[in-house]
Amino acid sequence: MVFTTDPIALQLLASQQDTPLLVSLFDAHDQLQFANAAFRQSYGLGPDEQPTWAEMLLRNHAEGVGALIETTDIASWLVSARSRRGKLPFRAFEADLCDGRWVWMTETLRADGWMLCVASDITELRSSERVLRQARDVAVRAAQTDVLTGISNRAHILQLLEQSIAQMDLDGTPCGVALVDLDHFKRVNDTYGHSAGDAVLKHFAHTVHEVLRRDDGLGRVGGEEFLVLFPGMVATGLENIVTRILDAVRSAQPLPDHPQFAYTCSAGMGTLKPNESLRSVYNRLDEALYAAKAAGRDGCVWAS
Ligand code: GH3
Ligand code: MG
Ligand code: MG
Repeated sequence: MVFTTDPIALQLLASQQDTPLLVSLFDAHDQLQFANAAFRQSYGLGPDEQPTWAEMLLRNHAEGVGALIETTDIASWLVSARSRRGKLPFRAFEADLCDGRWVWMTETLRADGWMLCVASDITELRSSERVLRQARDVAVRAAQTDVLTGISNRAHILQLLEQSIAQMDLDGTPCGVALVDLDHFKRVNDTYGHSAGDAVLKHFAHTVHEVLRRDDGLGRVGGEEFLVLFPGMVATGLENIVTRILDAVRSAQPLPDHPQFAYTCSAGMGTLKPNESLRSVYNRLDEALYAAKAAGRDGCVWAS
């Protein structure tokens, strides 16, 4: 019912009816006094219904239409929602609708207690946010991954090593580490070509992965040099697993076009010491690796 003849007021009322915005007006007793078509459709109201806000939400909850209310205790939910409703001159928040839409709801409270509620559909914004989040996840993954082999890159495996060091310092959790380098790899490239060399690097990464447990870490720290982390592992287990890696590599035929071709690797291995820096761990492993090379390759040597 409209009693005004003011052209501006009439324009305003007409545009409220036509807009896709969800517009409603509640009186001081929180009874609905005006709702446009978009609001009535969204909250499951007939053309002439004038429920209170609480009645409307109770019905929404019972019938699974309108506002999405995920609770098994609607009474408590209403108490909590009422403790926020109509307390501030202006409030804005996000709300889910049962049909999957997501709205940005604004509540404008007038001095006489009447409240104008206007909501806009921001489902699209939300999904583009999701696209952004997914793109960020892809970027993070790419920043951590070695392109050729698909395992952790240098930055990521060193970050994991830092975490293992921190864990050791925090609660003494042991961690085994091994630095593994392929033997005479330059000859592989020189004899079979660079792409065969790449295939061997991939083969190595996959072979080591087969031997690892889920929480072990494997990363490529240089051209044909790899770091392996074994969280929770003490010395006895470490020698065992590094030997298994060396055995698996030695007995493989990674180049289908050259079935006679085999390769080996050498390793420096050790366990983390309390209060040790990353540089110190790495230097110890590097020295041990060097010793393994000097001892004839295809073997492993304990770090100091
Ligand atoms: P050693 O047993 O002493 O480790 O000898 P090596 O020949 O393996 O060591 P060296 O450091 O002399 O050579 C490493 C070679 O690895 C040289 C380099 O061309 C090759 N290389 C490094 N990165 C890649 C890569 O991504 N793909 C290929 N195919 N080769 C690589
Ligand atoms: Mg090498
Ligand atoms: Mg090397």
